[in-house]
Amino acid sequence: MTIIEVQKKYSTQAKCLKLLEQLRWGKVVKCTYCGSTKTNRQKSEQTRHTCKNCKRSFSVFVDTIFEDTRLPLPKWFVVITMMLNSKSGISAKEIQRNIGGSYKTSYYTAMRVRIGMLIKSTQLNGMIEMDESYFGGKARKMEKGEDNEANLSTATLKRGRGTNKVSVAGMVQRKGMVKTKLIDKLTKRNLLFMLKTYAKQENSILITDGFRSYKDLDNYIDRLEINHKKSFSKGIVHINTIEGFWSYVKNGIKGSYKSISKKYLPFYLVEYEWKFNNRNYRGDEFEKFLKNALNQEKELEYWKAKDSKEVREVAYGN
Ligand SMILES: [Zn+2]
Repeated sequence: MTIIEVQKKYSTQAKCLKLLEQLRWGKVVKCTYCGSTKTNRQKSEQTRHTCKNCKRSFSVFVDTIFEDTRLPLPKWFVVITMMLNSKSGISAKEIQRNIGGSYKTSYYTAMRVRIGMLIKSTQLNGMIEMDESYFGGKARKMEKGEDNEANLSTATLKRGRGTNKVSVAGMVQRKGMVKTKLIDKLTKRNLLFMLKTYAKQENSILITDGFRSYKDLDNYIDRLEINHKKSFSKGIVHINTIEGFWSYVKNGIKGSYKSISKKYLPFYLVEYEWKFNNRNYRGDEFEKFLKNALNQEKELEYWKAKDSKEVREVAYGN
């Protein structure tokens, strides 16, 4: 949807609220605490419902990115639309120029939108390219195809020496979805964990370069390897898709956000994953996003738990 369409269709708090309730609960309001469908809408405050079963009061915002927000929903919807429609990311400064208010509000709202972009159920299969990339800092660029431990430890050492270089592993299914993960040490164990979490073992073929830790995955999954010292593709054996994704992310960050610290990088990766994964989506991406965002309870907990205070700060601005 365009910003004009969104503003026209969801011009008031009540209209926005109606959509959120519909997308989260369907026709029957459900208590967010006990799941009971016996509820009443409060007369004094239209956003709140009272549960007849557990007697608690709740709104559609509970456990979602909208929790405790003071920004009016029509403005939220504009921010979401701007972020969905931007091809390579949009800075909080630019959002602020469009919706007014403080920079802080724009920043935290955008961060929450990124949480809402997290896709929970990624299961890749078929031809899957796996590769790693390094973000931030000015450490030595990894030579592609170098497949010795020394290379890995150099990277680790460089990071340990006070640069803020961060390694991110990524997997992409050909003509399918992408999934990335910040991994401090690119060991067999960590990569295997990622592979097991996000890809199907059966009927899948992994394609990587000659990096040592990928060789160690051979016991788990069928793997093809491209030797970058010799060539960059051999028919279907290449990792061009995931490398294309890395440059998309890096150009986007450079263009829109300048630089991002390690702590916040996952939020931005989620945003680029969403954009990449929905690049061919022909339905209503706005509603798709809201549906996804309203079902993010566990992931919100995950962000909170991981680094509770800081992440709460990032996500909620308090
Ligand atoms: Zn209840």
